[in-house]
Amino acid sequence: MARKQFKAESKRLLDLMIHSIYTHREIFLRELISNASDAMDKLYYHTLQEGNTGLSREDFGIQIAVDKQNRTLTLSDNGCGMTREDLEKDLGTIARSGSLDFKRENEQKDEIDIIGQFGVGFYSAFMVSDKVKVVSRAYGSEEAFCWESEGADGYTIDPCEKQGHGTDIILSIKENTEEDSFDEFLDPYRIRALVQKYSDYIRYPIRMEMEKTRRKENPEDEGKDPKDVKPEYETYTEVETLNSMVPIWKKNRSELKDEDYHRFYKEKFYDYEDPARVIHSSTEGAATYNALLFIPARAPFNYYTRDFEKGLQLYASGVLIMDKCPDLLPDCFSFVRGLVDSQDLSLNISREMLQHDRQLKIIESRLEKKIKSELQAMLQNDREKYEAFFKNFGLQLKYGAYGEYGARKELLQDLLLFYSSFENKPVTLAEYVGRMKEDQKHIYYACGETIERIAALPQTEQVRDKGYEILYLTDDVDEFCLSTLHEYEGKEFKSVSAGDLDLGGEEEKKELLEQQEENKDLLEAMKEALEGKVSAVKLSQRLKSHPVCLTAEGALSLEMEKVLGSMPGENPGVKAQRVLELNAGHPVFQKLKALHEGKDEQTLKSYTGLLYAQALLIEGMAVEDPVAFSNEICKLMAQ
Ligand code: ADP
Repeated sequence: MARKQFKAESKRLLDLMIHSIYTHREIFLRELISNASDAMDKLYYHTLQEGNTGLSREDFGIQIAVDKQNRTLTLSDNGCGMTREDLEKDLGTIARSGSLDFKRENEQKDEIDIIGQFGVGFYSAFMVSDKVKVVSRAYGSEEAFCWESEGADGYTIDPCEKQGHGTDIILSIKENTEEDSFDEFLDPYRIRALVQKYSDYIRYPIRMEMEKTRRKENPEDEGKDPKDVKPEYETYTEVETLNSMVPIWKKNRSELKDEDYHRFYKEKFYDYEDPARVIHSSTEGAATYNALLFIPARAPFNYYTRDFEKGLQLYASGVLIMDKCPDLLPDCFSFVRGLVDSQDLSLNISREMLQHDRQLKIIESRLEKKIKSELQAMLQNDREKYEAFFKNFGLQLKYGAYGEYGARKELLQDLLLFYSSFENKPVTLAEYVGRMKEDQKHIYYACGETIERIAALPQTEQVRDKGYEILYLTDDVDEFCLSTLHEYEGKEFKSVSAGDLDLGGEEEKKELLEQQEENKDLLEAMKEALEGKVSAVKLSQRLKSHPVCLTAEGALSLEMEKVLGSMPGENPGVKAQRVLELNAGHPVFQKLKALHEGKDEQTLKSYTGLLYAQALLIEGMAVEDPVAFSNEICKLMAQ
C-alpha cells in the first residue's frame, strides 16, 4: 500500500522522538508494556462482559524477545489487537493523547524534558528505533495487518499473517553512533532491569527467555572427593517472569511484616538503614489511592542543601508515571520517601497538568494530615525514636513553621521540640505550657551557641530565680520560628534578652522606674561614653549576681542580628538596637555611681567601655577592639 503521511501533530512529536537525545529514552519500554497491558485489560473486560471468549485471566501475558544478530527487540501481547482502521487511527495520529495539547500550550518550554517526564506513548519507540513494525490481529478477526514506519517519512499498512489475536511490536534498534550506544536495549539483563524498574507491578506476567548457566552433572564425579572434581558449566535458556505483578502497597497490611517493608524501602530508595517509620494507607472516596511512605532513620547527606529534591513516586494504576512528584509533599515534610498509586490519574498526565490536578491536591492534603498524625503517634508512644527523628529532621519542621508567614503553624507547632532548662532534654510546647507556674504569663526562651553557654547567660538569672522554665534555643532558625508562631495556647513567647520581661509585680516595676529616674544622669553619661554603640543604658530587671548584660529593643534580637549577619551577601542595616543593662544591686554599680558623683568622667568612660566589652563577650559576640580592651584591663591590674 502507498506510504501515508502522519497527521501534522503526530509528525511534530515524532520528529522530537527521533532527534531526542534524552537520557530517559529507556521509558519507551514502560510505554509499550503499558499499552500492551491496556490492550489485555480491554479484552479481559470484554471477556467478563460477554463471558463467551473462553479466555481467563491466566491466559494473558506479555512476551519480550531479543535478537542481537538482527538488532530487534520484540514485545508481544495477546490483548485485543488492532484492526486496519485502528492502526490507521491509533498509530497515525496522537491527537487524542493529552501530551500534545499540553505541548501546544507550552511551545517555548524545553520539549525534551517533557518526553522524559511523561508518557508520550507508542511514539517513544522512535527514541531507540530506526524502524518500528506493528503486527496486529484484532480479537475476533481473521485478518492481520502490519503497520510499518521508519519515522518522519510516514507509514504503510499491509495485510500479513499472524497466529492468534494480539499485537507484536518489533523494534529495529538503532545502530550505535560515536557518541551514543543503543546496545543496552538488546541486552536481556538490561531489559529485565528496566522492566523491574518501571513495570514491576503490571498485573500480567512479562516473560522473557533468559540465558543462564548451571553446573554440569557428571556421573563419573559421584563419590569423588569434592577437591578432585573439576566443575564444568553449561548454558541453557529458561523463560523467566520478570515482574512481581503485585505491588507491596496493594497488599494487605496484615500480610506484611516489618522486614518486608524495610527490604522494599532499602531496595527501592537506596538506603542502607531501616526506616524510622512506615506509613501504609489506602483511601477511598474523594480520592482513591494507596500510599506507602517512609520516614528515613537518617537525613541524607545532601538533605539540607539545594541539591536535595523532594518528592514521592507517583503511579497511575500500578504504572510509574513520575519518579519524584514534588506536589505530593509540603516542604516541611520533604524528608518523607515513598509512593502513591492512584487509579484516578491518567498515565499521560504531564507535570504542568499535575499541578492543577484536583485529585492530586486532595491526595496531598490527606498525606499531610496522615504524616502529621503518624509523627504525633511516634512522639507519644516512642519518645526516644521521635527525639532521634527530630535530631535529623527537626530543623526542617522549624523552617516549615517559620516559612509562609506561619501558614503551617497549626500543622507543626505540636511537633516541635526545644531544649528545656528544667528537663535538660527537648520538650514540646504543650509540655512547657502544661507545667507553667500560676503567676507566669509568658513562655521564656534564651538563645546561644550551645546549651552550656545559654545556661550561663546572666540574662536568665531572674527568670530562673522565679522558678520559670526556659527554652534554650541553639539553632539559627529557632528564634525566627518562635517569633513567627508568636504565641502558643495564648502564651506569648518572650526572650530573656529582649524588652520587658514582665516578671515582677507592679511594685517591683515601680521601684525599678524610680531607681532609673534617680540615676538618669549617670545612665545618660554612660550612653554618651559608648558613642552610639547602644541605644540606651538601663537598670536591669533580669540580673541578679552579674553586673552587666546586653539586650535588644525592638523586633530584631541580638541572635537574629548574628544569624542575618552571617548570611552570604551584604546585609546593610540589619542591626539590633542594643541596650546595656546594669545590675543596680551589684558593687560595680556603686563604683560607677561614685565615679559619676566625683566627676571622674575619664574613669567612668573607661569602665563603661570595659563593661560593654564584657557584655559582648558574654553574648558570644566579638569585642570591637580587643587590643584596647586588653590594655584597659592591664591598666586596672597595675593599679
Ligand atoms: P495512549 O496509550 O496514550 O492512548 P499511544 O500512542 O501509546 O497513546 O497509543 C495509541 C493507541 O494505540 C492506544 O490508545 C491503543 O488504542 C492503541 N495501541 C497501542 N498499542 C497497542 C497494543 N499493544 N494493542 C492494542 N492497541 C494498542
